[in-house]
Amino acid sequence: MAKTATRIDQFFVLHATRNDRWQVVADLARDWAAGAERPQGLADTLDELAVLEQFHAIPGSPTVERLRGLVETGEAAEAARLARHVAEVLMVGRGSDLVEEWEAEEDVVAADIVPSVVAPAEARRPYFEVLYVTAQEEPRWKTLRGQVRRLRRREDQFVYEPVFVGSVEDAICATVLNPRLAAVVVGENVPLHSRHQAPVIRELLEHVAQAKLQAPLGLELARALKRIRPELDLYMLSGRNVETIAGDPHADVLRRVFHSIEEPIELHLSILEGVAARYETPFFDNLKKYAQRPIATFHALPIARGKSVFQSDWIRDMGEFYGMNLFLAESSATTGGLDSLLEPTGNIKKAQEMAARAFGADHVFFVTNGTSTSNKMVVQALVRPGDVVIVDRNCHKSHHYGLVLSGGQPAYVEAFPLTQYSMYGAVPLETIKKTLLDFRDEGRLDRVRMLDLTNCTFDGHMYNTRRVMEECLAIKPDLIFLWDEAWSGFAHWSPFLRPRTAMGAAAALKDYLCSPEAVDAFERQQAELGPDPSREKLLKTRLVPDPRKVRLRVYQTNSTHKSMSAIRQGSMVLVRDVDFAHVESQFHEAIFTHASTSPNQQLIASLDVARRQMELEGYGLVMNAITIALKIRMAVNGHPLVSKYFRVLGADAMIPEQFRNSGFVDYLSPGANWGTVLKAVNEDEFFLDPTRLTLVCGTAGFDGTSFKGLLANRFNIQVNKTSRNSVLIQSNINNSRSDVALLLRVLVQVCRELEEGGGTTTDGFKRKVHSLMTEVPDLPNFSRFHDAYRKDGGPQTTEGDMRTAFFAAYREENCEYVPLRSPEIDKRLENGPELISANFVIPYPPGFPIMVPGQVLTKDAITFMRKLDVKEIHGYEAARGLKLLRPDRL
Ligand SMILES: *Cc1c(COP(=O)(O)O)cnc(C)c1O
Repeated sequence: MAKTATRIDQFFVLHATRNDRWQVVADLARDWAAGAERPQGLADTLDELAVLEQFHAIPGSPTVERLRGLVETGEAAEAARLARHVAEVLMVGRGSDLVEEWEAEEDVVAADIVPSVVAPAEARRPYFEVLYVTAQEEPRWKTLRGQVRRLRRREDQFVYEPVFVGSVEDAICATVLNPRLAAVVVGENVPLHSRHQAPVIRELLEHVAQAKLQAPLGLELARALKRIRPELDLYMLSGRNVETIAGDPHADVLRRVFHSIEEPIELHLSILEGVAARYETPFFDNLKKYAQRPIATFHALPIARGKSVFQSDWIRDMGEFYGMNLFLAESSATTGGLDSLLEPTGNIKKAQEMAARAFGADHVFFVTNGTSTSNKMVVQALVRPGDVVIVDRNCHKSHHYGLVLSGGQPAYVEAFPLTQYSMYGAVPLETIKKTLLDFRDEGRLDRVRMLDLTNCTFDGHMYNTRRVMEECLAIKPDLIFLWDEAWSGFAHWSPFLRPRTAMGAAAALKDYLCSPEAVDAFERQQAELGPDPSREKLLKTRLVPDPRKVRLRVYQTNSTHKSMSAIRQGSMVLVRDVDFAHVESQFHEAIFTHASTSPNQQLIASLDVARRQMELEGYGLVMNAITIALKIRMAVNGHPLVSKYFRVLGADAMIPEQFRNSGFVDYLSPGANWGTVLKAVNEDEFFLDPTRLTLVCGTAGFDGTSFKGLLANRFNIQVNKTSRNSVLIQSNINNSRSDVALLLRVLVQVCRELEEGGGTTTDGFKRKVHSLMTEVPDLPNFSRFHDAYRKDGGPQTTEGDMRTAFFAAYREENCEYVPLRSPEIDKRLENGPELISANFVIPYPPGFPIMVPGQVLTKDAITFMRKLDVKEIHGYEAARGLKLLRPDRL
């Protein structure tokens, strides 16, 4: 820590660094106790740890001091014991185990005896830490700590330890570095500057908190902490000013304001109550109670209560496998402590409200049929037949099918291609603005209803959500946004990624639009642009919306099951729409259309629980997922043998330079640090989510599908999707560093086998690599809809009536089949009549539609299809050929 850390990985991996450092101390102390010289590294490592441990309660600064003392006085055996114990304690993941282990240590020391909280394992209470930001001098902290601990009662639902810091800067560092914090107590007159001069800390302050902390104002600090971790409960202790503070318009970031001389027990109870409010899972809690009650069911769900299962000779193993509770907690009832997902009035409603609070939305809707359904619900609720939706052609099929169902007309926009890896990136803002301006110039802007984009994309491209919305709203102030964040629901829990989520950007945008600067900025830009600015000028300018006209309407869908602890298919729709009241009834219609009338209780419960987890430990879990991802990136690209064959693509390979305005190259490139990453997050058009890793395997002679198969069949490693020459690896809140080790070991083994087979030198290998990496097919752009489906379109705009085309194919006499490789296709491409796709053709991979209903096929699409060597192509039967609409029947 004392050394200047320049690489971003070193900042992100501070949590891991802490454990690693303790391991080093334990090893050095062990050697010393075994008779070696006192190692010099021991004192240095303890110095580094002293800076980190001040932000943690366990083992915390006092333990570092004790160890330093033991090192100075030469007590090797005791130093070795203590260091080993710390290293072991830190390895246990769960807070309740941690505190248990540690109390045993404190009993040994008996420095200040505290009421014991030792309990049998099953009764262990969840553990968290509370940060006290205080102006009191450091020598007093030990006494304060004793006072806080003496407030503990047997009836408390949770146990916590205090952490004390003496400056605003240290408070921010602790908030960033200590994932166990659940609450912060801010005192008055706290000095601004830390005593520490570690450069890391300064970087943290400038970039993460974005705080202009001029005066040591408690409220300013509280707001900065909320920006980093919105889930934390903040309390303020105030002397004379208590009423002034409570009345400040910014005081809503505080959970409570206390008069400093008030009973400390009140603060203690408030802290516990605040955590309890996040711990509460209204639906799950009631489901557990429901399962305990003796209930006779006469409804249509025989499996409920499990009698037909457990009393059967033939299916009892199912009961034994899943356990009794699954059946006790099954019900088709919506009463008796349960609630109706379709029309929630009780604990599901409450659970959804809590999720809205947690994820920064106004409303949340739980969906038990995946984001596939969430997307269709949002599209149907907001899009009327004939409305135009500007949509990434590369988006998930649920959007395309949603448009078929709703009768919305897609105006497809293209993402930038990553041809070499047979995948698409994301849609450039310029493309979106051009499309909007096309509609404007044709006087048809009123037809456009929605912009529908995927964020982040499968491969990790995150939009600059705020900028996209700002500039689009400058052209069309009532445009609705649907951000499909199927993958990235977790991003809310990282201060780095949150600004690039739909809800994070919507919150920031709302604040901005309410500020007086917003009107000024708009007026200023209008004056600069003049009365009738040219298209070119509008495309080049970063447009500012008119805050008086804007209706901010933002929807986000996320597959909670893809990034958090929800059961498969658990999904959420998040809403921040100022006009939601006008569409609420339609929204309910859409729910009634798509949601099952028999939603699964366990799924709903898991959504409730996933929210609880993220609110209480999401920050640390996500930080860990990012750490793991960076470790994998470093391990693969830095390994001498592995990097000869494999490579994880950096931001520079995944995002063309023109979209990295800040100059950011990659996490691993020299000079990358907090500063460059934060700058990239704020400024760049696209940002690469570090947890999504494209591992190129074509350079090792494997196509994506066979490499995925190899990893699964031989090594039990499951990866996400594949492309022609890569596989997508993803880290999530479930991964540990052992997973990194396993992956690396497997890659090493694969590389060894390649070396034994002659390595990169054989002709066969070279040919394979050349074919996979160089002979890549061009990705076909969307051509156009046939004129028959463009009856009300304009000359520049491209939307089409896809639904009519889709249903035209339901009449067999309208359709024809032409084999993909037949000369007839080539003839018709030359001389007509036009080839018109009758349905969606979606190959996996890459998983986007090469053809949509009503689309005129071009040579590009045919060539791509002919070169495609994947087995699974939805909408295409090789035996019959391409299904086309007959032009003479239109
Ligand atoms: C997976 C996915 C969906 C569908 O979500 P499910 O929860 O699997 O139904 C939608 N959009 C994107 C971008 C996805 O990756």
